[in-house]
Amino acid sequence: MPEVLSAPLVLEFPFTRSLGPVQSAFLTGLRERVVLGVRTTDGRVLVPPVEYDPVTAEEIHDLVEVAPTGTVTTWAWNHAPRRGQPLATPFAWVLVRLDGADTALLHALDAPGPDAVRTGMRVRVRWAEERTGAITDIACFEPHDGEPAQPGDSTGAFADPLRGIVAPARLDYTYSPGRAQTAYIGALSARRIVGERCPSCRKVYVPPRGACPTCGLATAEQVEVGPRGTVTTFCIVNIKAKNLDIEVPYVYAHIALDGADLALHARIGGIPYDRVRMGLRVEPVWTEGARYPDHYRPTSEPDADYETYKELL
Ligand SMILES: [Zn+2]
Repeated sequence: MPEVLSAPLVLEFPFTRSLGPVQSAFLTGLRERVVLGVRTTDGRVLVPPVEYDPVTAEEIHDLVEVAPTGTVTTWAWNHAPRRGQPLATPFAWVLVRLDGADTALLHALDAPGPDAVRTGMRVRVRWAEERTGAITDIACFEPHDGEPAQPGDSTGAFADPLRGIVAPARLDYTYSPGRAQTAYIGALSARRIVGERCPSCRKVYVPPRGACPTCGLATAEQVEVGPRGTVTTFCIVNIKAKNLDIEVPYVYAHIALDGADLALHARIGGIPYDRVRMGLRVEPVWTEGARYPDHYRPTSEPDADYETYKELL
């Protein structure tokens, strides 16, 4: 029994979103050290603001400035801040109802320890030195003993308003692929593609997951498949992905490797994108040092008969 693999896996991508009039004003306001709320149909002020009344679902856009001081309505102590969180030292997550608002905003409170935090305590915004139009323009909240601050009279009209933001998303995993995929990955390092056969229905799964999803039985019998296979279905990719050095358009296909009962997916190269077709026979192309095929390219064989792959679409 080989040791099961485990490795760090990071999923990271920039999430680009456009801002409607309310979120645009809110984030542009933070850039200008102004906190805006939105007034609902029944006269309450929501901070952070939303585009639609949560009770009546009516569109709302009556923006009002609230004070940069407020009251903690509830909190939780964060003993071990993680990468990307507002403060690098232990801090409190707090809900703060800013003076002039009827709802509370989630943010961080810089405090020496949990004994220094309580529900009802007064706090104020600590602005970030450099502000770009993001919730992080509020660096955090800090304890505040003085009078409530007087809000200004901004109505959300700013020169050079923000139209969109790029929010980086990042998920850190420790990924363990399990016994079956460990064997699959091990075989790939020798440029072999190995699936597993179900003891009941005899189907060969590639990549193997360790069980047959139809019969619910564990699979163990290893079966080498391919390296050649058949394109069962495909799509043409026209949108260039960030950080991916592949010119568009290109084809991404489901490929049934010879001997496999499940199609895997891969890029097709070595043929114009508009010549790729169902039934095209392909083989893997390995690049130096790669741990899996870079892409698949046509062989010179005739196309496969539809009957041979119609169950593998
Ligand atoms: Zn089965």
